[in-house]
Amino acid sequence: MSNTDFALAVEDLTVSFDGFKAIDALTLYIDRNELRVIIGPNGAGKTTLLDLICGKTRASSGSIKFKNEEMTVLDEHTRVRRGIGRKFQTPSIYENLSVFKNLEVSYPSGRSVFGALTFRCTDEVMARVHAVAQEIGLADALQMEAGLLSHGQKQWLEIGMLLMQEPELLMLDEPIAGMSARERELTAELLQRICKNRSVIVIEHDMEFVKRIAHKVTVMHQGKILAEGSMEAVQSNPKVIDVYLGH
Ligand code: ADP
Ligand code: MG
Repeated sequence: MSNTDFALAVEDLTVSFDGFKAIDALTLYIDRNELRVIIGPNGAGKTTLLDLICGKTRASSGSIKFKNEEMTVLDEHTRVRRGIGRKFQTPSIYENLSVFKNLEVSYPSGRSVFGALTFRCTDEVMARVHAVAQEIGLADALQMEAGLLSHGQKQWLEIGMLLMQEPELLMLDEPIAGMSARERELTAELLQRICKNRSVIVIEHDMEFVKRIAHKVTVMHQGKILAEGSMEAVQSNPKVIDVYLGH
């Protein structure tokens, strides 16, 4: 397989904060329709890696290619338009709006020749809202005020708001934190469904959850990759047990 076949190719990526390399010459490839889980101790650089991919943080050196196009030169909004979606740890939904409105306002604007905030095909928006609501398990809650949803439902709504943009790469930072066992179960099923049409990167600590969803696991430590492979291979790797799983 040549490097151009990957959805995402991160090569020799480095970012320094006052001389400290939070990401240190890291190379990582993600396939199309792959669900990759990134694990590692606190401070390993996991969140910083997602910040670099989505453009929240600028790389000091190295390359990030998404569908073979260099991303490091593009700003955050342009990367969103290219198809990179990122969910942060705290959900940012509009609590006072209905679930329906939250999804509707997330439909990408500005795709017409007239620019942003002009013509939107209502039927198309409606169809997308209903399809996404179905996907995230909130089809029966469309008229509900978002602030009244459970913690888990709010997380799914935010995933839905990202899905409205039809991203080809979706990145989620610790999506099941604070969820009940049942909500974790449903989230695992949701992630398995959404990676059928796109690549997904998930940062997660819960090993039972990781085992359920991961196609491949990448273990980070001190801004570098410590190990990568199947869950079984990674779990039995002595270096991984030493710095992460042993504790
Ligand atoms: P993880 O998500 O794996 O727990 P982070 O990516 O949040 O780790 O952090 C990696 C390291 O980089 C930590 O030592 C953190 O303090 C440092 N770091 C992250 N962002 C910044 C920043 N904007 N400025 C300075 N240091 C940072
Ligand atoms: Mg983090």
